[in-house]
Amino acid sequence: MCAEAVENQLIKMSAPLNDSSTGFDLFDFHSSILRGLDAAGFQDPRPIQAETIPAALTGRDVLGLAQTGTGKTAAFALPLLDRFVGEKVPGPRALVLAPTRELATQIDAEIRTLARYTSLKAVTVFGGVSAHGQIKALRGNPEIVVGCPGRILDLMGQGALRLGNVEALVLDEADHMFDMGFLPDLRRILKQLPTDRQNLLFSATMPREIRKLADGLLRDPHVAQLSVSGPAETIDHALIPIREDRKRDLLERILSEDACESAIVFTRTKHRARKLARQLDQSGYRAVSLQGNMSQSQRDRAMKGFRKAQYDVLVATDIAARGIDVQGVSHVINYDVPNTPEAYTHRTGRTGRSENEGCALTFATRDDQAWLRATEKKLGTPIRRQTIQGFESDSGELKQTPNKTSQPQRRGRPGRSRSAAPGRGRSRSKVRAIHA
Ligand code: ADP
Ligand code: MG
Repeated sequence: MCAEAVENQLIKMSAPLNDSSTGFDLFDFHSSILRGLDAAGFQDPRPIQAETIPAALTGRDVLGLAQTGTGKTAAFALPLLDRFVGEKVPGPRALVLAPTRELATQIDAEIRTLARYTSLKAVTVFGGVSAHGQIKALRGNPEIVVGCPGRILDLMGQGALRLGNVEALVLDEADHMFDMGFLPDLRRILKQLPTDRQNLLFSATMPREIRKLADGLLRDPHVAQLSVSGPAETIDHALIPIREDRKRDLLERILSEDACESAIVFTRTKHRARKLARQLDQSGYRAVSLQGNMSQSQRDRAMKGFRKAQYDVLVATDIAARGIDVQGVSHVINYDVPNTPEAYTHRTGRTGRSENEGCALTFATRDDQAWLRATEKKLGTPIRRQTIQGFESDSGELKQTPNKTSQPQRRGRPGRSRSAAPGRGRSRSKVRAIHA
């Protein structure tokens, strides 16, 4: 894009953005990208998109911090696609790193939707499946490669993936990509990238200690920080005191409630996820597990089945905590509490997405007292305590410290409506509403 076009765009962007009729015209996107936006059903830019796209279009580094489900994927994808469209140069021109295979697949799908009317190609690479198909796809010279660090390194080692032409690096779930588990691989990949490149970092959370690492990667970044400190406002949070041996009864009670159309249930371990999904299945729920001990084809089947509403309940470990965007998830249930406040924000962020309502319930036993203190401190607000009819005797499990001001307003029924979701919703007897 020439300097004049950029300047015009910045002038347009300086106009107030509270006029929701502005649409995507503001960005002067190529017509093929506008058609892609139409295909995706996106009419107006979300705040994080409006805040970051102009800077990203100029080639500047961006740190985009915004709540879960607010459109960060398109915020990094659109400016890259717009820059690459109509310009045939050797690639890959952009490398997008994500922490899980499921998230890489999802990002790839969104990029393909937005790029549908262009000739741009994206390829996804991750482990757990044969590299053969990925190597073949890479021979087709894709502009964009999306993937998980391990397989990217493997393919680089085999000479199947060369990153010398990369103009832009995207770290989605950026803080997680700097975690100890990923950092060594990330460093090795960075060494192979041209130093003169654009860096786009996006996340809903950015702990202070990790921000330093992120800052080390960024050069004169445009920083867009939209209420990053807490979970999305569209989520109603509650904490339910419960005895460990009563968790399953409580879960079944909640799942059988009418308002619970579709749920992601998080457990601490892979084994617990597998076992609980099996038990729920035996109790007549359409439940499936998603955890790292499953083969990739089993993981794909579970994820696809859940997306298509063949299952109402996904029982998962933290591999489903980040980035996953499934429409109509009305409930996130922390069957076991997560390890960190960040994990709490990401897990609960699987509901209440894209301006929909959602309900996040956390089961807490007396052993979770310390976790709770640390999490509430970090969130800066107490989580509302809730007692469920029939489970009142468990309320003594936690010290009562309800905060009146923390009572979120329930704004009607969360998630997508049944009529909009054919197949979602299993037959079940009506039970009383359990929300106290
Ligand atoms: P985040 O990465 O911030 O958690 P996603 O990029 O996964 O959020 O987007 C959440 C949902 O919002 C997705 O289903 C996405 O397709 C949708 N979405 C993104 N941008 C827009 C937009 N401008 N208009 C309507 N829907 C959008
Ligand atoms: Mg995301």
